[in-house]
Amino acid sequence: MAREDGQMIRSWNPAGAILRGNSLGDTDWGADRVVLDVGTLRVAFAVVALTLFVLFYAVTYRSTRSAYSGWWCAALVLFLTGAAGYLLDGTPHQVWANPLANSLLVAGSVGVWAAARSLRQQPINTWQLLAAPALTAVASALDNPAVNDWSGGPVFLAMMCVMFSFSYAEMRALPPDYSHVQGPLTAASGLLALFYFGRWLVFLVDGPRGPTFLTFFGSEVTTLVTMALLMFVSFGMAAMSTEQLTKDLSLRASRDGLTGLLNRSGFLELAGDELRRIERSGRSASLILADLDHFKAVNDEHGHSAGDSALQAFAAACTGCVRSTDIVARYGGEEFVILLPGASPDLAEAIAKEIGLRLKIMDSPDIPRLPTASFGIAVTGTGTADLGKTIAAADAALYQAKAQGRNRVVRAAD
Ligand code: GH3
Ligand code: MG
Ligand code: MG
Repeated sequence: MAREDGQMIRSWNPAGAILRGNSLGDTDWGADRVVLDVGTLRVAFAVVALTLFVLFYAVTYRSTRSAYSGWWCAALVLFLTGAAGYLLDGTPHQVWANPLANSLLVAGSVGVWAAARSLRQQPINTWQLLAAPALTAVASALDNPAVNDWSGGPVFLAMMCVMFSFSYAEMRALPPDYSHVQGPLTAASGLLALFYFGRWLVFLVDGPRGPTFLTFFGSEVTTLVTMALLMFVSFGMAAMSTEQLTKDLSLRASRDGLTGLLNRSGFLELAGDELRRIERSGRSASLILADLDHFKAVNDEHGHSAGDSALQAFAAACTGCVRSTDIVARYGGEEFVILLPGASPDLAEAIAKEIGLRLKIMDSPDIPRLPTASFGIAVTGTGTADLGKTIAAADAALYQAKAQGRNRVVRAAD
């Protein structure tokens, strides 16, 4: 982050850039050089950080309420107030404003770390948030802040470097397919860590007024670098939020709200994928279609919400009886479907019977007795799995189970 270097205005010109041609020996440099003074840059930085904060808060944070966008909002505010604190350098307020600004900026980098860490849902303790800013505040307060506008400089730079390195490590720990933008965001935190390592090292060797420090790591360069990275990271974070929102929506679109099971379209997609896999390996799968018996009567006698809890109980009975590789879904109304990859019809029949038994012994607070269920079972041909045909065969078997008096399991003819 930008630091006051003692001079009120100083021209930044590491390469001696001359914009318009000027004969050598011309002494009127000022009119032809790129002049970036610290004060103007800091005001520009504050405007950029404030704009980013307002946009990010209003657009991204309010629509997602995600932990990482909250931490990023906090980081933007801390960077903004910290940078503003340096505007009091050179005034009698420097004695408290300089250490406070240092620790606010370090707190901002802690915010960046917390944002990165929250992506993995890892715990964040209070001491982890307070340690680096507190250390920076103490070191700065003990380092003549009334006259020294680089109070606690080495500790401040080291803490910034450490926190950005931690952010980099958090980003690296994400699973590789977490997001499309994790690569650029990881690179940004790595670059910031490297930049602050350079600042810290050159500060120790060259001092805050040394030519190398002022040219490559002074307030102007730092303000420009940070401004660019703030924008870069904000856009990356916004892109990541949109990505997660889309994932969340498509997940919700494939789930049934009442039972939490997959819905019909979610099942057809997942089961279709699974059957193609099974087909390639030359195995077969069994499919169970289940329908609650006289379910309309449950609604009529005990009310719709009693019917709803019976559906939830049946869903629980199904998920309790299957293996983790099986796919259970609410096919519609009071009808459920289960795909059992690699399972024989015997195993499917045993599972269907177990679901029926579970349902019999389950208690419901709303109805004296849960309804029974009828089951139809079909098997996919080995090497020629057709989901539509298998469901139709299971449906025909289910129809027979109903016709034969309900509360039973019927297998489709081969
Ligand atoms: P059968 O034994 O022949 O299957 O008779 P049934 O009464 O179970 O079948 P029917 O198709 O006549 O009625 C199904 C009922 O399921 C009608 C419908 O109101 C009810 N239903 C469908 N979805 C829901 C739901 O989400 N909640 C509740 N409470 N009832 C539902
Ligand atoms: Mg029914
Ligand atoms: Mg039905």
